Amino acid sequence: MRYTYRFRAYSARTGVTAELDRHIDIHRQAYNHTHYEYNRLDTDEDNIGSTYQHQKRLTEWKDEWPVFSEVHSKALQKTVERFYTNLLTLSKKKQNGHNVGRLKRKSPREYQSMTYSQSGFELKNTSGRYATLWLSKIGEIPIRYHRPVLEDALIKEVTVKKEKTGEWYVTFGLELEDAALPEKPDPKKLNAQDCVGIDLGIQNYVYTSKGDSVDWLDLSEEYERLRREQRSLSRKEHSSSNWEKQRRKVATVKRRIKRKVEDFQHKLSTWLVTTYDAVFVEDLNVSELLQSEGNARNKQDAAWRQFIEMLEYKGDLYGTHVVQVNPAGTTKECADCGVERVKPLWVREHSCPSCGFEANRDENAAYNALSRGLQKLGVGHAEVTPAETATAVGEDSVQESVSASCVVETGSLGVVRKT
Ligand SMILES: [Zn+2]
Repeated sequence: MRYTYRFRAYSARTGVTAELDRHIDIHRQAYNHTHYEYNRLDTDEDNIGSTYQHQKRLTEWKDEWPVFSEVHSKALQKTVERFYTNLLTLSKKKQNGHNVGRLKRKSPREYQSMTYSQSGFELKNTSGRYATLWLSKIGEIPIRYHRPVLEDALIKEVTVKKEKTGEWYVTFGLELEDAALPEKPDPKKLNAQDCVGIDLGIQNYVYTSKGDSVDWLDLSEEYERLRREQRSLSRKEHSSSNWEKQRRKVATVKRRIKRKVEDFQHKLSTWLVTTYDAVFVEDLNVSELLQSEGNARNKQDAAWRQFIEMLEYKGDLYGTHVVQVNPAGTTKECADCGVERVKPLWVREHSCPSCGFEANRDENAAYNALSRGLQKLGVGHAEVTPAETATAVGEDSVQESVSASCVVETGSLGVVRKT
């Protein structure tokens, strides 16, 4: 399995920022030179036209322009590869009927990263809050080590990037042999109590079949701030120094929003896969088809999609089943007896006219996700009634909605559940 981890980098602390900037600019020149040669040289006669063939020209380049010897050679090869990858992406877009131009030379502002591949880097001092990334020809860079790289994971490549806000980040491309992944429990031996169904609510929250609910992050203040900064940007003269300053402010607010959402999703998804043996969640691709009014949920869907992706790769990392289930009718259907009854959105309670089962609307949907998941996974005794699972917490338990900030602070829902 391949996945990535991203860390904030603090190059200023070791005084290597200027060197990073300089290296990235040399890579930019190499990228542009690849572009130049691709367009000017005869691809057959001059033996270019593919990553591999073009990389063989690098020795010649270094003889002619010694500056290309100043950066790490594997990273330089990767830059040539980047050009051909972009070329391929562009031609695929063209094939799909998109109106695309040609690849362009990159200005310094458009080219802000470089990738070390296979060699020339080392991750060190991983025991504390900060670790050290050593890069050949650059030096040491402290990184905020908020999640450890698994011992068995192989670091395939390291990308160093300067964001528009001026902050530095490093992304590790990691590979874990399937054999090194923890084994997922045998579905036949799974206990339904250790599984959970999740309802992703339209009213911005997550509801579990255990009766836990957690509010989605309240970002209204951040969005208000963003609107303010964007208004101010639109009033400034384009490309003036004030405009440039304001553009940075806008980028900073956007980044802060993105980071808050990611942080929240990481904690929530980690909590779910480490607490349960199986997590069942609605299949968003099917949900999309079910939606009558298309665009209203698009933004929310993008966030859910990212969340489900996290759940899935973490499921692999922690040995937890993550299964997407058909969401059709999960709200209408009674989780206890299966009788369907249409509920308008404002009806927050499920109260079954046939069997008398009562639950919160979204809790009922979460039970349905649970039983569909158990069935799909082939768990032996798939017949689960809400009574068996929900009340496992205890009849007298007071289940309270958990605030998003609590998840962010503690990385869990469980600590505040009153039982
Ligand atoms: Zn019923």
